[in-house]
Amino acid sequence: MTPTIEIVPLLVDNYGYLIVDEATGTTGFVDPGEAGPAAERIRARGGRLDWILLTHHHGDHVAGTTELVRAFGARVAGAAADAARLPALDRALAEGEVWDFGRLRVRTLATPGHTRHHVAFLVEDPDRPAAPDLFCGDTLFVMGCGRLFEGDAETMWRSLAELAALPGETRIWCGHEYTLANARFALSVDPDNAALRARLAEVERLRAEGRPTVPSTIAAERLTNPFLRVEDPAIRRRLGLESAPAAEVFAALRKAKDTFRG
Ligand SMILES: [Zn+2]
Repeated sequence: MTPTIEIVPLLVDNYGYLIVDEATGTTGFVDPGEAGPAAERIRARGGRLDWILLTHHHGDHVAGTTELVRAFGARVAGAAADAARLPALDRALAEGEVWDFGRLRVRTLATPGHTRHHVAFLVEDPDRPAAPDLFCGDTLFVMGCGRLFEGDAETMWRSLAELAALPGETRIWCGHEYTLANARFALSVDPDNAALRARLAEVERLRAEGRPTVPSTIAAERLTNPFLRVEDPAIRRRLGLESAPAAEVFAALRKAKDTFRG
């Protein structure tokens, strides 16, 4: 039985996620940037909330935490290294730590770059080890990546490279709906990528219908996300960085995205 995952739109373009291990009823909520819509969804499912999982300390990912703890008695899990900036943690997670979530396992991956102690959660179902669910906050987005607020390009590149090496069937649930803007930038640096063109059309259709573009998969990102394609000869040629180290190509892409007006 796979976990049930519900997308909960929050604030302007944030996504929070409700995770239910159907075998045990164990329920978690990832990144409650506001409490109201999260609480509504939790109540609609019977009012159980065991865990709040926090990817990083930014207000649009944590602001609803205290209210949800008060309403449902949930415990809070986040990076031990960032305990001083996160809401009070009941479970301070070390890098690489694996904990039981009902019959699922949650692996904490350190993904610094957007913030110094950003983490991603890899939720593994023992029956489907090759197809885990990745909650990656503001590190990896659909066809994009987070801004570098507290890390350099090299640091962020290493975090993304680690995520890119996860199984292709890994589903990606990221912190924001930025996909359309990301896809337009991607096409500007990778215009001959047929997979990317097809995906942009699909994303335009989904957004026109007001539907989310998550989840993506690691396999789809490897094909269409320029920040995971820094070894691609066409992208390198376009940037004039044919023989540069991967982190340097990544840095040039990130910089170009920061000033891109599609
Ligand atoms: Zn953030």
